[in-house]
Amino acid sequence: MNDMSFSQLHLSKLVLDNLAELAYEKMTAIQAQSLPHVLQNKDVIAQAKTGSGKTAAFGIGLLNKIELKNYSVQALVLCPTRELADQVTKDLRRLARFTENIKIITLCGGVAIGSQIKSLSHPAHIVVGTPGRILKHLDKNYMRIDGLKTLVLDEADRMLDMGFVEDIQKIIEFAPNKRQTLLFSATYTDEVRSLSKSIQKSAVTVATIDTESPNKITEMFYESAADLNLSHLVNIIAKEEPKNVLVFANTKIDAKEVARHLRNNGIEAAALHGDLEQYQRNDVLVKFTNGTLPVLVATDVAARGLDIKELSLVINYGLPFEHNVYTHRIGRTGRAGSTGIAVTLYWGKQAFKAKKMQNSSRQFDKASTLPKANGYILKAQNGTIVIEAGKRNKLRPGDILGALTGDVGLNGKQIGKISIYDKQSYVAIERGLINKAIKGLKQSGLKGKRFSVWIMK
Ligand code: ADP
Ligand code: MG
Repeated sequence: MNDMSFSQLHLSKLVLDNLAELAYEKMTAIQAQSLPHVLQNKDVIAQAKTGSGKTAAFGIGLLNKIELKNYSVQALVLCPTRELADQVTKDLRRLARFTENIKIITLCGGVAIGSQIKSLSHPAHIVVGTPGRILKHLDKNYMRIDGLKTLVLDEADRMLDMGFVEDIQKIIEFAPNKRQTLLFSATYTDEVRSLSKSIQKSAVTVATIDTESPNKITEMFYESAADLNLSHLVNIIAKEEPKNVLVFANTKIDAKEVARHLRNNGIEAAALHGDLEQYQRNDVLVKFTNGTLPVLVATDVAARGLDIKELSLVINYGLPFEHNVYTHRIGRTGRAGSTGIAVTLYWGKQAFKAKKMQNSSRQFDKASTLPKANGYILKAQNGTIVIEAGKRNKLRPGDILGALTGDVGLNGKQIGKISIYDKQSYVAIERGLINKAIKGLKQSGLKGKRFSVWIMK
């Protein structure tokens, strides 16, 4: 398809204007291939790599069918993790921001069900969530989807990996037969195909894997003696001097151990894994994405669906068991045309697999050849403060920036990213000025009101 502009899609002017404002100038490959079918209400199975714009490919489609006056769940998006569901909800709200009175909610496990039940007392138009929790709401009749028009399975391959297939099948029993089912996946495995067969009707298949230019990624491999992994890891980070790093660990235990070791060796790091409470995960993610935490150590499941732009380095602490996991992981760096670096540290039996991965564009070396870290330190320049006010208080970034550079007396350069969530806002601020900022904000307040402010630990 040559014409990649959204305007050929017969969308309303409001939608087109919004896309232009979001700086979506033209469709991505997967959007160009899938949206015409999606908008014709066909079932679609779409495969494209991470970061290729799949959310808007189903988002624009499902939003187009929402009848605002009909207060029932018309679209349901199933996602493998809480983070991904939050991300999708955020993206859908951005796509729908000119649509007044549209209700989009997230329903995921790991949080109290009570407040979710309450929010369902006025049905939402769109529900985004993880299969387990969605099924619970359906089973208990807290939510109905008998008027569902669109069902989306986002990252279907990963939901299958995580064992959600039964939950998905059960959820579908609550949905009407006459519905559109969209299935999105980064890989197209036999399991994905058979899931599609069982829940979709004459699905149109689109795949862009071959037509997309690959990310520019330098891949390096270091073989280590098993007992030296952790110190080699420090050496790798010291050698690359990255701005930020995502380290993948194969297990939760490794993730914790790696983060601890890095912290003990002058590198500010935190682990992201399934054992954390929701608020702890949230804090870690806020800090990593706003640049106040330089190193995130994550398991694959915990990192799935994170959309972190400008990731300078990805490290595999141990070779992953499957090759497509490797491809997924390193695809996190070198996005949007910039070049990225992916370093894999492996040991023991992994050497067998690593050997099979050798090709002319990958560099292999012994980890013992790495220069020693020698007093290397990696700390974020900024820290994060939390303000107990957010979108609900109609707060906007300009309000916070205004207060900090006005009454509080900071300079714009000393302030980093400002992120406003529903009930809280997060501001990255030069470490030495955090106390001044907290004190100042408490005194000055925001938009004439005072809120609590504290430092995120
Ligand atoms: P995927 O789900 O395929 O991994 P996402 O839907 O999360 O990818 O999109 C990746 C990034 O690309 C997001 O930051 C999104 O806002 C952006 N994006 C999506 N579509 C477009 C477009 N047509 N033009 C520019 N940016 C886009
Ligand atoms: Mg996605």
